[in-house]
Parts: sequence; C-alpha cells; structure tokens
Amino acid sequence: MNVLDPTHNPKRRAWVTSANAPDSDFPIQNLPLGVFSRDGGAPRGGVAIGDQVLDLRAALEAGLISGEAAEAAAEPNLNRLMAMGRPASRALRAAVSELLTDGNAAVAQRDAILVPMHAARMQLPCAIANFSDFMASRDHSWRLGARRDPVAPLPPAFDSLPVAYHSRASSVRVSGEPVVRPNGQWKRKDGVHFGPTEALDYELELAVWLAGENALGVPVPMSQAPERLFGYGLLNDWSARDVQRWEMPPLGPFLAKSLSTSVSPWIVTAEAMTPFEVPAAPRAGGVAPPLPYLDSEWNRARGGLSIAMEVWLLTRRMRAEGGGPARLTATDFATMAWTPAQMVTHHASNGCNLLPGDLLGSGTCSGPTDEARACMAEIILTGPIELPNGETRRFLEDGDEVIFRGRAHAPGAVSIGFGECRAEILPAPPWPAG
Ligand code: MN
Repeated sequence: MNVLDPTHNPKRRAWVTSANAPDSDFPIQNLPLGVFSRDGGAPRGGVAIGDQVLDLRAALEAGLISGEAAEAAAEPNLNRLMAMGRPASRALRAAVSELLTDGNAAVAQRDAILVPMHAARMQLPCAIANFSDFMASRDHSWRLGARRDPVAPLPPAFDSLPVAYHSRASSVRVSGEPVVRPNGQWKRKDGVHFGPTEALDYELELAVWLAGENALGVPVPMSQAPERLFGYGLLNDWSARDVQRWEMPPLGPFLAKSLSTSVSPWIVTAEAMTPFEVPAAPRAGGVAPPLPYLDSEWNRARGGLSIAMEVWLLTRRMRAEGGGPARLTATDFATMAWTPAQMVTHHASNGCNLLPGDLLGSGTCSGPTDEARACMAEIILTGPIELPNGETRRFLEDGDEVIFRGRAHAPGAVSIGFGECRAEILPAPPWPAG
C-alpha cells in the first residue's frame, strides 16, 4: 500500500528551478514518467521536471542512476517497468527524486541529462495491450439515462458493479495528434444515413495504467488491486453520438468510440498520487454497500482520488482572433461512484488476465453540478453551448481543439499537475472511390 516518504516532502526543492514555481504541473513531488524522442532520435523514457525532461537513458549513461528499474524505464516504452510492478517504480522514484533535489551533484551534468520540454516529442508511454472503458460517474449515467427513461435512468447494474465495455487499443493516440472526423452510419429523419458524424463529442476521463500481470483464471482481490495501479493520466474518449445511439443496442458501443482515443503523455504514478488519495465517494442515498468482493477497508478510506479536471475549447475563430480557449467543464474525480481499485478487481473477477500496459478509462467524469458535466451531450440537455466570443456549439466542429487539464491538491501537499491532453478535429476524408 502507499505510504508517504521523503519524495513527498513539501519542503523538497529541485535544482531545475522552473519546477519550484507554485503553478508548475511538474514539481519534484510529481516526477511523472513518459516516453519521448528528440531530433528524430530513438524514443526513450523520461521524467517531467518543471519545463524540462530528465532523459533517463542519458542519466544511466552518466552513471547518475542504475539498476533494473532505471534500465527498464529508459527503454522505448514503459512496458517492462510496468511488468516489474510497483516496487520497481517506487525505487525509481526515490532515485530520481534524490538526483533532482537541490544540492545534488547531478546539476553539474544538467546539459547532458535535461531536454527542454518544447524540444521533446512525446510518444505513447507504452504498447497498449488492451483498453477497457468504464462508466464510473453516477451523474453522467443519470443525466444521459434520464433522456431515455426518466423513471429509471441508471442501467440496472450501475450501483452493483462498475459498468464497462471492451474498447479499442490500436486507435489510442498521444496528445497533440489530430482526430479525424469519422464516417459512420446512423438513423436520421431522412432515413438510414452514412457519412461524417454530425455529433462528435468529447468525454473527459481519467486514464488508469496497469502494472503487473495476473494469469488467466486468477482474479485480483481488492487487497491486491492497489498494487496493480501503475499510474494515471487524462483520456479523451471521443464519441460520435449519432452513430453510438444507432449501433449500441444490444451489444454496446463499437465504431462510435474506436475512431480515436487521446491520452496525455505523462503517467502520474500511483506513488505521486498518494497524498491525494481520498475516501471512496459515499454511496448514493438508499444504495446498499457493494458486494464484499468489491469492498475493502483501504478502498473506503483511500480508494478515491482528488483530481480537479477541466475541459477547454479553442475554436478556429478564437485562434484567428488571438483569443484564449473557453472552459466547458470543471469537475473532480473524487465524486466518481467507483474507484480504480474496484475497476481492477471487477475486471479480473471472472479470471480475465490484466496485462502490464493495459489501459482503463474511468468513464466520463461528470459531477453533480452543471459546470461538472464532462461531455457535450450532457451540457446541451439544457440548450446549446454559448461561447464567450458569440459562437455556439452543440457538438464539435472541424478546427475545434479540445484541451484537458488536471491538477491534484491536498492540504499540506505540493500540488501536482497532469499536463495536457489536447487534439484538434480535422474534416472527414471523402469516402474512397471505386
Ligand atoms: Mn467513455
């Protein structure tokens, strides 16, 4: 289980001075892991620190870090580190924190081991074996369900298990890569239609990256689930709502979701999140506790995560006029009805083998207030979105750029950020001739 250690000490300062600014996403208490390349060179592991990236390969070659965990983290993907499990990432974090602490002699080699973040081309952090998407927000499920059935808005199993579906790993892309408007089929007023989606939406979700592996047939009880949580990021589960509504019954979402999924490049490790663990959200009024296999004392006390999450929209016109983006959503992961540990245990409860580098999406992180509606389908239930520059939206238009941000705060802890998950919408391609 996670405990506070010297890497969380709020007094610790980095010799990379930009990391010590109070608004930095990447202070020395964070140390998220990612994979980057520079000047067309080979991808390698790195750690975000202030406005710099610590090149783990260079730090190994300089003799500043050593050992199996550091070797694994410097590779072109993080899968081997993830397979080694949480003890390895804990050891790596301790070593990197030491190396970057103000007063460490490594500062003399800064030019050899640091890369300015603007010069680092971020990659996906690992080879993603599988991607499963959950639906952990009761508010999201309630609002969208009430359109179909105002009397019983929630899926029947919602309060009994974390509802999920198997999504697509091959179309996950790192932040910054554009998203092409997909073609799809749905039923319009003029009949069944195939063409570019007219209802492209974002879903603000937490990415949960898994460590370790359970063999097929071997479940993961709640007591072991926390050790399977490698770390977290921001995830945009792009959704074509018209296609989704038409194709979903009875097998669930398919092409409306696999068009593309964007993730932020930095994995904020479970160790970094320890100060921001909070009790699992209280069960809704009248709802029974979860079955024992989805319950634990640790989960009730520390299974939730306090992460302020935001969505910003930058339209083509805002860019042309030199304006900033407009905020569409402000929510907090702490309000989710199901925790990452419960997702892991439920996912493996049938013996399903979860692999290092597997990706879980939390589901749209909507909260109870209007500003916490974390997708456009929920926001437009009360009318079109009116932007500060006079533009309106029901769904995303070509040229729109969607930007996610996340930040964790806790009393007595240095606040840490997730960086950004952003992508611009490109027009749908013409259907191939012939
Ligand atoms: Mn989703």
